[in-house]
Amino acid sequence: MSRYFPQAMPFIWSRVSWGARPPTGKLSPLSQPRTIVLHHTVSAPAAPSREIRTIQDYHLQKGFADIGYHFLLDRPPYVNGQDVYWGRETGADGSLNVGAHSRGHNQDSIGVAVLGDYESEQPSREQLRSLAILLAWLCFAWDIDPDAIVPHSALNPTSCPGRFLTAALPWLRWQVTWRLHGLDGEAPFQPPEGDPDTVRIVVGNGAPTIRGWLLDGTLWAPVRALATALGRRVEWDGATRTAYVFLQRRPLLALPPPPPPRVRVVVEGSELAADPPPMVKDNMSVAPLPALAGALGQVVLFDAPSRTAAVVTPYPITKAGGGAGSCTRVRR
Ligand SMILES: [Zn+2]
Repeated sequence: MSRYFPQAMPFIWSRVSWGARPPTGKLSPLSQPRTIVLHHTVSAPAAPSREIRTIQDYHLQKGFADIGYHFLLDRPPYVNGQDVYWGRETGADGSLNVGAHSRGHNQDSIGVAVLGDYESEQPSREQLRSLAILLAWLCFAWDIDPDAIVPHSALNPTSCPGRFLTAALPWLRWQVTWRLHGLDGEAPFQPPEGDPDTVRIVVGNGAPTIRGWLLDGTLWAPVRALATALGRRVEWDGATRTAYVFLQRRPLLALPPPPPPRVRVVVEGSELAADPPPMVKDNMSVAPLPALAGALGQVVLFDAPSRTAAVVTPYPITKAGGGAGSCTRVRR
């Protein structure tokens, strides 16, 4: 069972569409790929069918049994997103065969090539978006970690897939992670405006967005805003400096107030244990985001360059940690 939120298979043009020649030798099945290797083709721009045929011819001349890559992504402009091509011949059931794209690493990797030269040109946003959709589907279908998407240069002495595509890899991995956690569309690319310690916290599927902070390596979230966005009720008890987060009934606890500037957060009757502990900031009760989100049955993804934290329901969906109102959702 995949760890990830299901990803639809993108439309992929068949080998017939580019006039593939049949393999010249027997191909062996790729049993469990562990990495995805990114390449660029440094091929002369032509109609994609001609360009891919030329690459296949070149690979056949080198003695490969077929084109070396499993998938190829065209340059924009795209028509209806129909921009990805099957490379190497698959089994009759669509299973992949061992490719020929990364010496010494072909037995456990999927080779994805982007048509073009990304040592000299920038990949476009459109291209990166298409690539992210393809990669997210590959990670889902073969249960591969997004961190295992690597540039060819990480495995062999080469500049492939070019410095510009290599530089886009952290963003691509973040995009893929975003999709694999069921978040729609595009992950934020730019950091939020405001002071440099501000972060954006995206809850659920893109909205609402809450302002949080990254202070001394700890992500902080306003308790009321986050809990409310997740459908919880929040009540502040000034006498005991306690923020109660609950679904149905506020628990009756007789607790002495913590010393200022500390506050206490009680989620469904349990005091939130966090290090550092909750505090007051900008007149709000704030708590370390991972601890607060965890107490609410959520996980946090964080992308440092765009200073974006996403609060998502873990998938496969499991029973959220105890308390009234938590329920078990079963996969169909
Ligand atoms: Zn390569």
